[in-house]
Amino acid sequence: MDYFNYKNGKLFAENTDVERITAEIGTPVYIYSKATFKEHLQKIKEAYSELDTTICYSVKACGNINILKFMADAGSGFDIVSGGELYRVLQAGGEPSKTVYAGVGKTDREIIEALNAQISYFNIESEAEMENLIRLATQQRKQPKAALRINPDVDPKTHTYTTTGKKETKFGVDIERARKVFADYGKNKTVKLCAIHIHLGSAGKTVEPYVEAVEKTLVLINQLRSDGFAIEAVDMGGGYGADYTTGTSPTAADYAAAIVPLLAGKNLKLILEPGASIAANTAILVTQVLYLKSSGSKKYVIVDAAMNDLIRPPLYGAFHFIWPTKVDKKFIPTRRDRDLQLTGTDVVDVVGPVCESADFFAQDRALPPVKRGDFVSIFTAGAYGFTMSSNYNARPRPAEVLVDGSKFSIIRKRETYEDLTSLEK
Ligand SMILES: *Cc1c(COP(=O)(O)O)cnc(C)c1O
Repeated sequence: MDYFNYKNGKLFAENTDVERITAEIGTPVYIYSKATFKEHLQKIKEAYSELDTTICYSVKACGNINILKFMADAGSGFDIVSGGELYRVLQAGGEPSKTVYAGVGKTDREIIEALNAQISYFNIESEAEMENLIRLATQQRKQPKAALRINPDVDPKTHTYTTTGKKETKFGVDIERARKVFADYGKNKTVKLCAIHIHLGSAGKTVEPYVEAVEKTLVLINQLRSDGFAIEAVDMGGGYGADYTTGTSPTAADYAAAIVPLLAGKNLKLILEPGASIAANTAILVTQVLYLKSSGSKKYVIVDAAMNDLIRPPLYGAFHFIWPTKVDKKFIPTRRDRDLQLTGTDVVDVVGPVCESADFFAQDRALPPVKRGDFVSIFTAGAYGFTMSSNYNARPRPAEVLVDGSKFSIIRKRETYEDLTSLEK
């Protein structure tokens, strides 16, 4: 659920008319709903309240420091994958003691920064990384905790690029190798290897892969404990479904209903790293129609946002519901769905100005008739939207706006032409 709804045919973000924002800020613009972020966080908290749970919101999904700040205030920890993300968390006043750090290629500089910040767990992805962490921790006189990222070899049945928990990905170590890693490093005095980390990949649509992964993990933890290793926590990673299409993903309560009973009474702290399931529907990307064009049997709606602003459709074949910000009563969408059929819609491709055929937001999609100057909203753009944006085609990145009830504020200015060349002198 989120707070983007039509009232009298006009799209509102919470209690703010979206076209009031575009009139002031221009387009393209990312518009976030604070209430949606907080509601998702709260729902996850409630769902897992039976266990000692730390929610580490995944910064790479959407990492604006203003957002991280209110998430930290609401009790969230953070999942980071780089030194830059650690910097963001610290800038936002996030707690290092609730920050976990994953990634197969952590550099010495990044590791030292995380050691000095005293993050809660290094999520270790290989023996070589463990060796390096021990070396650097010794040098820095620090005694960090680490979780071993294992590969439970389950398939979340998502896109190949977002599948990370199967064998033969570059992530983690295979479950059979985990006992050996503990035999070699589990009693190390410098780095305390005391937790297991899994992350299956992104945007799963069912609960089953998590159940399977947790079951396999618990078997391993039992073995490790009987081998004499103290395992205090299990980090289940992220990848929980987000409703790109209305009502198609399990809710936090659905996941928890299957997972909590497996972990209850096991004397394990639980860490969760939700990204998209928190951030995805917290934002819309609003763009203005520049031109309409026909080519053969195709109709194109050319808008002022492009793949550099939101790359998910060409990169992952991702579906984003797209609809005008102002519509007649008969076009008020009942749900966000690729197959939403309302009489009177046109079938169009929604494309941007970038010189690539991959520059599209939707293909063969039903859309109410629009004309030059109209605004359309690309929904569910909060996760891996702005964070994956670029300056390709020398396009300044869009502004980010945060709505809180009937107020809104710019949380990142629109980039200027000067920004494009400022580092090139
Ligand atoms: C990307 C990532 C996440 C978040 O994934 P979502 O699909 O956005 O929930 C969590 N943990 C790790 C290690 C990640 O790389």
